[in-house]
Amino acid sequence: MVRGEVCLASFLKHLFIACGERRCAMQTCWLVSGDSRHEPIALPDGTTVVVGRCRLTRIKDTRCSRQQISVQAMYSKRVVLIKQLGVNPTSIETVELGHHGEAELRPGQTLHVVNASYPMHVEFRGPASPPPSTLASASASASALAPAPTTSPSGRPSHLPKRAWHSPSGSDSQAGSIRKFLKFVGGKDRAKDNSPSVSPTKGNAQKSPTGQRGQPAHWSQSLRDAMDDPSVQIFRDDQVVVILDKFPKARHHWLVLPWRFVANVGVLRADHLPLLRHMHDVAERLSRQVQPLGAATAPPTFRLGYHAIPSMSRIHMHVISQDFDSPRLKTKKHWNSFTTGYFIDSEVVMRMVEEDGRVVIPEDTAELLKKPLQCHMCHREISTIPKLKEHLGTHKL
Ligand code: AMP
Ligand code: ZN
Repeated sequence: MVRGEVCLASFLKHLFIACGERRCAMQTCWLVSGDSRHEPIALPDGTTVVVGRCRLTRIKDTRCSRQQISVQAMYSKRVVLIKQLGVNPTSIETVELGHHGEAELRPGQTLHVVNASYPMHVEFRGPASPPPSTLASASASASALAPAPTTSPSGRPSHLPKRAWHSPSGSDSQAGSIRKFLKFVGGKDRAKDNSPSVSPTKGNAQKSPTGQRGQPAHWSQSLRDAMDDPSVQIFRDDQVVVILDKFPKARHHWLVLPWRFVANVGVLRADHLPLLRHMHDVAERLSRQVQPLGAATAPPTFRLGYHAIPSMSRIHMHVISQDFDSPRLKTKKHWNSFTTGYFIDSEVVMRMVEEDGRVVIPEDTAELLKKPLQCHMCHREISTIPKLKEHLGTHKL
């Protein structure tokens, strides 16, 4: 690892060597101060540079660690990967990375090194090398999110780990998008729909995922494997990981899972409150970054919460947009699990734990899945799922 003191001479040496090899005009990359505090800091391609309270940045503020962030330029993608090493917050635009959180910084975005201070941005100078065709194709397939300062051209919030954001476009589902992406990068199709029914009881004819050491794990354990899979992670820090729901029931449907094992909402106690608050904050931050489908459309609204009786092991918060526009939403159980009291808002869960010391699930909760279909917007009863979907179109969600 190169410490913050990457000197210009060594950078030019890199350039010289690279130029000699490629015999072409070279691209360079610089971390530029937004308040003219310091000279631009050279970022050689693929080299990790550690930046913080140091001579290069002229930052003397002790809230800034000497090794506050690591910075790695990726010339082919014209992005810079930032990782927060210090304890105080580093942010890109308004989004804090979190301790050990990573994010991509793109030209035009502002990085604040610590506590919303010391603005910097990145500048690529010289001709760009063409992006790898796989990634170019993948982002072309994921264009639903309007470009915004805080989103990458692929629609992935720019603070999210690379290769981890897969946005649905128009009629394309989240699963379809990830399938295309994985096809491009030669991965296997993870998005084959073997979605469990909501009830943990009967009818779960699942393919068992393979457990550790080749032992078949029960399907209900498969979230643990997904947590470690970078291709479905959209955010992670030292407490939680956010993954794409494998069978999304709306345009945007993610799961927030703590690394620490917590079985389900039933075991929550007061000492879980800081974790629950953190899960909620992360979910809110991510959902606020999703852009509207089109200029005339409002930004999507989300609900954050838990199924009262989950089918999958270990606690997971659903973050789901309220359009419910997904071919994966097929049954009355699916619908009722997100639109009745079966879905408990994260705020309610936190309040119950705070006030009553735990979450109490009413005995007849499972019955809620059998309720007649009712529009969650206008509360009109509708007889079938296809009719309900048609009706949802009238709400322009
Ligand atoms: P529940 O346990 O009822 O709260 O819901 C479990 C959620 O996990 C459902 O929304 C499923 O679509 C989703 N799911 C099931 N298997 C996986 C997996 N391997 N990776 C990601 N999401 C999954
Ligand atoms: Zn309605």
